[in-house]
Amino acid sequence: MHEFGAILIVSGPSGAGKSSLIKAAKEQIGDFYFSISTTTREPREGEREGVDYFFTDQESFEADIKAGEFLEYAQVHGNYYGTSLKPVRKALEEGKLVIFDIDVQGHAIARERMGDLITSVFVTTPTLAELEHRLRSRGTDGDDIIKKRIQNALVEIEYISAYDFLIVNDDFERALDSFIAVAKAARLKKGRKQALAFINHWRGA
Ligand code: 5GP
Repeated sequence: MHEFGAILIVSGPSGAGKSSLIKAAKEQIGDFYFSISTTTREPREGEREGVDYFFTDQESFEADIKAGEFLEYAQVHGNYYGTSLKPVRKALEEGKLVIFDIDVQGHAIARERMGDLITSVFVTTPTLAELEHRLRSRGTDGDDIIKKRIQNALVEIEYISAYDFLIVNDDFERALDSFIAVAKAARLKKGRKQALAFINHWRGA
């Protein structure tokens, strides 16, 4: 029986620990494809082209928008971020769980387009004050950028109810257990097309 592909969307303020959770869960959630986004923001120290993001400029990004390359895209903190459709389609066809780390606007668009395949989880710090503390101690961003991220977090937090699950990343190990449970459940989600295919298979058609 062919395995079904499914999508897990992870959102939440920058600094809440989304990437750390995804990285730490790797071994335990089986084969998945992490959707590498394209962005016009500058690489941070330690980030690698084609691993963390595909880094590009505004002109190329806008050309890709026109060409219909993106499943979704949004402007976050003054930069473009987008998910390319082709690799996602391919991974889904291969029956993989596809994980997106995208913002609340991207989540809303992806839901409209592929909602029946999507499970979503919002990851946040226990409080705004804790978020600010983590952003400052991460030491990768200047004061202006931290302010932008905080402003953005204040808006993003309003969207929690649009998500299937909420993980409060207070104790990392506990948050990781929850994240693994969500990812395992996400893999079992089936879309309309897959449901029909399964029914046919089950009937022996
Ligand atoms: P960062 O600059 O911290 O890597 O990401 C900033 C925000 O952009 C995060 O909330 C992240 O989830 C979001 N983001 C990253 N890639 C994408 C994408 O492809 N689409 C959308 N809509 N948001 C993204």
